[in-house]
Amino acid sequence: MGRMELVFAEVEERGVQSAEKTVIQAVHKELFIDGKWRASSTGRSLPVEDPSTGEVLCEVADAGVEDGLAALDAAVAAQKDWAAYAPRERGEILRRAYQLLLDRADDLALLMTLEMGKPVAEAKGEITYAAEFFRWFAEEAVRIDGGYATAPNGQGRFLVMRQPVGPCLLITPWNFPMAMGTRKLGPAIAAGCTVVIKPAEQTPLSMLALTDILAEAGLPAGVLNVLTTSDPGPVMEPLIKDGRIRKISFTGSTAVGKILLAQAADKVLRTSMELGGNAPFLVFDDADLDVAVEGAMMAKTRNMGEACTAANRFYVQRGVAQEFGRRLTSRMAELKVGRGTEEGVKIGPLIDNDAIAKVVELVADATAAGAKVLTGGSTVDGPGHFYPPTVLTDVPRDARMGREEIFGPVAPISVFDTEDEVIAAANDTEFGLVSYVFTTNINRALRVSERLEAGMIGLNTGLVSNPAAPFGGVKQSGVGREGGRIGIEEFLEVKYVAVGLS
Ligand code: NAP
Repeated sequence: MGRMELVFAEVEERGVQSAEKTVIQAVHKELFIDGKWRASSTGRSLPVEDPSTGEVLCEVADAGVEDGLAALDAAVAAQKDWAAYAPRERGEILRRAYQLLLDRADDLALLMTLEMGKPVAEAKGEITYAAEFFRWFAEEAVRIDGGYATAPNGQGRFLVMRQPVGPCLLITPWNFPMAMGTRKLGPAIAAGCTVVIKPAEQTPLSMLALTDILAEAGLPAGVLNVLTTSDPGPVMEPLIKDGRIRKISFTGSTAVGKILLAQAADKVLRTSMELGGNAPFLVFDDADLDVAVEGAMMAKTRNMGEACTAANRFYVQRGVAQEFGRRLTSRMAELKVGRGTEEGVKIGPLIDNDAIAKVVELVADATAAGAKVLTGGSTVDGPGHFYPPTVLTDVPRDARMGREEIFGPVAPISVFDTEDEVIAAANDTEFGLVSYVFTTNINRALRVSERLEAGMIGLNTGLVSNPAAPFGGVKQSGVGREGGRIGIEEFLEVKYVAVGLS
């Protein structure tokens, strides 16, 4: 019986009240290095808080530099054998882990809600989404191909092969604690790379639970090494500069992404960077307003707005602006705010006090510049870090929230008149992750999609994320793509053999 199966049995015996404690108890709190759980060499631990109460849920090991290097040694030692595993075997491990994730989705969702705050139903959606990366890359593991071609002058042959990049360093954020992990681990494992992974300090428990699942699915020792730490810079930098890590895949803020890119330059590492966003959400006069409002709810309220893909700026054409604002306000105002474990809650707490302070500051800046509050707009009493669903209208284009990620459930609306005007406004940002466009005119849909500077477009939809599609941004939103056919390429090197043929 696996650890989580034990949990189910215990929950039945002791009743649902103890379910929260039980899922937390079931998770290992140590570091995972070379196939073994072990204490941190620092002897320190770091607290994991419930953002809906501010209470400490548990403590996990706090890795230091020595632990980081031990994890690197293990990943490097395992690389050769892992690369030689049959692709089908690598795929089968991922397939088993996919199934285990689904089998344990209820417990894993509760665990995620406790450490991160999102409503349990959303957390369960993330577990399914996360599992799909393993299914997708289980299938891709056996499709790593190469090429054979005749040289243009007919005198030789070209042989092209794809090989694992080598040991990888993966660093993930707190907002999607499971899916951001599987989105990187899936292709790395499928490609035959070993990894050191560092989850966010605020949400380590989901990754620790996933580690158990991958071990149970048969991942050999040393392929996956997990470090939790309160000191990411000093622990990660020696790994990046060591020279044996061959790739960094990072998801997080643009500011930290830039630091890592600079560090990666030292040893010319391959890099994938999934960074911040500032998504514009365009609604044209000819849009189906029901579809647009539904899309807005998805793009704004999913994950309490704490998503890189969150709609950050709503631009609505004059003819439908008032009606769109009215409908969005009525939908936002009816959302229940509360602890993610409570029935019917749609908006959980934000991650911490800093997140609340930032939202408060941005809303104050916009209202001082003339924005009007249609709903929400003021903080909710603690404990916990709650902010109510908020709609602002008449938001000036130069308000701070037009340039910075809000990362909260706040929808700022401004009105536009022409297509050229709105495209210029939408593109006026250093970010370029995703843009949303709502129109029923096919010509406009394609024209605008081509002109928007973004790695992804949501065309009449508020959700772009899909494990089978290439996810990623342009400009300062990142480098590289995750998911889709291209996702595994990020973990493969191309080797070309020039064949002399007589
Ligand atoms: P963050 O502060 O950049 O942290 C991300 C990860 O980097 C965490 O694990 C963090 O550890 C670690 N880190 C921080 N400083 C580091 C350093 N000097 N060296 C090595 N690692 C370091 O971002 P966040 O606040 O967790 O996440 C929110 C951001 O992620 C937003 O900007 C959002 O748009 C972006 N995001 C992007 C995508 C995408 O696919 N494009 C997806 C999700 C989120 P600690 O937890 O210990 O600080």
